[in-house]
Amino acid sequence: MVPKEITKRGEQVNNQMRCNQLMKDYASHGVTFANKSKPWRGWHECVPIFFHILGHFKPLVTRGFFNDYLSVLGKTVYLPHHLYIDYVVDAQRFFMRHEGVLRHELQHIKDYKVQPLRFSLSYVMRKKWRAYWEYRANCQNMLQRYYTFGNLSEPYLKSIESRFTGDMYFKMDPNPKYKIKAIRDNIISGRLNFDSYDKVIDSIVTRP
Ligand SMILES: [Zn+2]
Repeated sequence: MVPKEITKRGEQVNNQMRCNQLMKDYASHGVTFANKSKPWRGWHECVPIFFHILGHFKPLVTRGFFNDYLSVLGKTVYLPHHLYIDYVVDAQRFFMRHEGVLRHELQHIKDYKVQPLRFSLSYVMRKKWRAYWEYRANCQNMLQRYYTFGNLSEPYLKSIESRFTGDMYFKMDPNPKYKIKAIRDNIISGRLNFDSYDKVIDSIVTRP
């Protein structure tokens, strides 16, 4: 049996190598990072504002939406000020700390690049399609979680579920249990991993 200390160090090295590759992937897709300026954070925020007006009239602003979350427009990732500082000070550490969300956003960027019009319109106009794109991106969060911590715990899976049932994305899928379980099973069996993602994802998350 491998002593725990060595295993930990081994995992750390693996995570670092994976994040170095992720940094290269970002660069190869020409993605840049920008600071959300304050107090107005840029016109790209019109999309959530638009959603918000259509949705629940509950101010997302009060939940810190604009300050706490990063958003993506085309090939630019807009970071809240504190994350932008993290990125500028030490990009490698930034990628290590935020690997899950960065993988999530890169998946959106890749999907957008393949079908810019379909992605943009269907994401905004159709809940089923929004859920579809989000399942693809949340698979990346789940992969990162599994390969970093070695498990996908029930509370973690519940938190993923709540993204689909909650207000944040306007209740895009009322019943995400089955799909999330399918993703989890495929990750744990090893069928879905970072390398096989593009090959197998369509058989697990199907188009609406
Ligand atoms: Zn997303």
